[in-house]
Amino acid sequence: MPLLLGCVADDFTGATDLASMLVKNGMTCVQVIGVPPAAERHGQASPLPEADAIVVALKSRTAPVADAVAESLAAAEALLAAGAKQLFFKYCSTFDSTDAGNIGPVADALLKRLGSGFAIACPAFPANGRSIFQGHLFVGQRLLSESGMENHPLTPMTDPDLVRVLSRQTDGGVGLVPFAVVEQGAAAIRRDFARLIDQGRRYAIVDAVSDAHLFAIGEAVAGQALVTGGSGVAMGLPANFRAAGLLPERADAAALPPAQGLCAVVAGSCSRATLGQIGFARDHAPVLELDALATPDAAALARQALDWADGKLDAARPVVIAASALPEKVAALQAKLGREAAGALVEHALATVAEGLVARGVRRLVVAGGETSGAVVQRLGVTSLRIGPEIDPGVPWTFAAPTGLHLALKSGNFGARDFFLKAFTS
Ligand code: ADP
Repeated sequence: MPLLLGCVADDFTGATDLASMLVKNGMTCVQVIGVPPAAERHGQASPLPEADAIVVALKSRTAPVADAVAESLAAAEALLAAGAKQLFFKYCSTFDSTDAGNIGPVADALLKRLGSGFAIACPAFPANGRSIFQGHLFVGQRLLSESGMENHPLTPMTDPDLVRVLSRQTDGGVGLVPFAVVEQGAAAIRRDFARLIDQGRRYAIVDAVSDAHLFAIGEAVAGQALVTGGSGVAMGLPANFRAAGLLPERADAAALPPAQGLCAVVAGSCSRATLGQIGFARDHAPVLELDALATPDAAALARQALDWADGKLDAARPVVIAASALPEKVAALQAKLGREAAGALVEHALATVAEGLVARGVRRLVVAGGETSGAVVQRLGVTSLRIGPEIDPGVPWTFAAPTGLHLALKSGNFGARDFFLKAFTS
């Protein structure tokens, strides 16, 4: 089957979120880590895996603008060379960006590359509490600018009016498709696109406060070269390809090769959710809590963990190896080594643990923590992840190439308390 939807995501966990959304709505999907190898040369096979949709995961959200633009364009080039019929630029549902970018500049560059003059910008994801009304983004019941996002260390969001926010990032005009139009459905939305294009606008912020709105918006952007938004608005896109006869009904979009073999959890997230999950696991599985403060040596920590795991590995229940600690302990290690060095030490130790576990026959691995997942994926030499069934919202099982390993990469705050056990029984 040819590639249909080519996606460029500005961070890793956001890419997984989008990929999982597409799979749930009937497309097979592979997440590729970083800019794929140069686009195929004449006569060569595509370097990208086969899937209905491919999501290229970049780390471009807070990169310098020029780097974000160059990487996004390179990713787009590879996706177009593989035959993508539509491109999707995925950013955060809280529109994380600054007046310098990177949402505006990347979208501008992609539109130019595609020879197109118009795209929507819709980060809404009502199921996760992100809704847009009259162009204003709400997080739960609060305006974006009063949601805590105004204090974000890298991308403080102090203006909830997305028309204004995006206008500061592009030389193109930005307009609004308001709630009253979105309520009327796809045809009305399309007519409003025509109105905005007539006015010379390059972007339309589109109101959405329900999944029904997102499906209508998805239908309205059928055939547009570029769609930009959060993962929510992608829920309506697979239906367009089905309607065009390009995508068969798939009951098995989330199918992965059978999961067998020893299982393990490696945790580096210190989020409240992850600490709760470790606490729950203690009553049901062997749990080792590494003490990075007592042993501030990555190799020694990893050795302790792997020695402990020997003889405990099992195919029916996981071993759980966690560096995660309460805020006081994290602060103590940071005071001793510095914030970055403390994080790097623990990430290095856990990546070595993951590598050692795989060498010992672990074939199903859960990793808790965004940065921790990045370190593990890099150490294991993973280049792409085929997206499978969801364990909990936003966290699917995946099948990693080229290692042939089942991996679940959990962003710190995600997952129910029993996540580490449930992952191996669902
Ligand atoms: P989350 O998804 O919850 O943000 P991350 O893995 O992205 O989790 O970030 C957690 C960071 O905390 C990582 O850099 C990890 O190495 C670091 N870390 C984990 N345990 C400790 C600890 N005991 N002391 C200091 N830093 C730690």
